[in-house]
Amino acid sequence: MNYTAGRHFLQIPGPTNVPERVLRAIDQPTIDHRGPRFQQLGQEVLAGLKHVFKTKATVIIFPASGTGAWEAALVNTLSPGDKVLMFETGHFASLWQSMAQRLGLVVEFVAGDWRHGVDPAAVESRLAADKSHAIKAVMAVHNETSTGVTSRIGEVRKAIDRAAHPALFMVDTISSLASIDYRHDEWGVDVTVAGSQKGLMLPPGLSFNAVSDKALAAGKSAKLPRSYWSWEEMLGPNRNGFFPYTPATNLLYGLREALKMLLEEEGLENVFRRHDRHAEATRRAVRAWGLEILCLNPAEYSSALTAVLMPEGHNEAEFRKTVLAHFDMSLGSGLGKIANKVFRIGHLGDFNDLMLCGTLCGVEMGLELAGVPHQKGGVAAALDYLAGGTAEKKTAKAA
Ligand SMILES: *Cc1c(COP(=O)(O)O)cnc(C)c1O
Repeated sequence: MNYTAGRHFLQIPGPTNVPERVLRAIDQPTIDHRGPRFQQLGQEVLAGLKHVFKTKATVIIFPASGTGAWEAALVNTLSPGDKVLMFETGHFASLWQSMAQRLGLVVEFVAGDWRHGVDPAAVESRLAADKSHAIKAVMAVHNETSTGVTSRIGEVRKAIDRAAHPALFMVDTISSLASIDYRHDEWGVDVTVAGSQKGLMLPPGLSFNAVSDKALAAGKSAKLPRSYWSWEEMLGPNRNGFFPYTPATNLLYGLREALKMLLEEEGLENVFRRHDRHAEATRRAVRAWGLEILCLNPAEYSSALTAVLMPEGHNEAEFRKTVLAHFDMSLGSGLGKIANKVFRIGHLGDFNDLMLCGTLCGVEMGLELAGVPHQKGGVAAALDYLAGGTAEKKTAKAA
């Protein structure tokens, strides 16, 4: 392999760019996970995470990928044969659905076109029709990473309430937490699933459940087998900052640093605004190129990533290969049903205006080099928007 000068652009929608500060924090000696120094670390991160989920409820950390926390959500709350309501918003919703089936749950899977989020009206009508309350859980993916569509979780909650249905509400926020506004308590979510390697700016390897009291209570009678994923096993030691098995100590050092950056230094609301702004600049670029954004409902545009349809007869894999070879930038591929049809620009995590500019330059030059029909001016449209935003800020400061 030849040396490639400069920095690689990791613009897939997770894993995201890990800040130097987080890498330095991880690069410390591993300590005794039963000792007092660890106890302080454990207590600090467990408390800090609650602010990210916007909850006063319990948060649990697993040394696992997000998929592990998906499984934990199901096995801690449900019994074999239980019915769950899920929505085909894209690849990740489909994978979570397959897992539920493999675990012995009965899934009512509402078909979707992979260009819209969960329809609150469909939630209401399905639940209203379920007079016997056979449905034990409603499960939704907040930000569908395969399509760049963000479901309106607050609206889904209202739909569940209108149907006056007692089902648990479980939400996957693996690619939205700490990038897109999310409110576990306010939206009455019972189990929130998250992961470390996207908005939280950490390497892969940690995943999370935020758990309501209602979900904890459901766990008492839930019959799916569980051991490694058992909340109950976790909660005892967690009360004092410890874990029932060896935790991923060094990733927790990184988490402590990331929480400091997100909560104390930048502030979550500013983090969300930054993501919104980069997403808008990206969409302006895509439109100027004459390409189509996969998400059809502007109220559901994702601030974490943008999925772009390839023009008919052009393959996204070839295009991404060109971009990687010429500019050392990785873009997201088309997943599942939309393989070869869509590429994805990740604009989440530790990311700023000039990183976005570099990313969009790489896309525009890549379209040219790969012979993908497009118009010039996407980058220019994004720059106009970004500079305009900066000018507004300056005037506001001067005033
Ligand atoms: C990345 C992702 C997953 C899978 O997480 P892993 O850490 O790869 O197990 C699940 N759901 C969504 C929405 C994701 O973005």
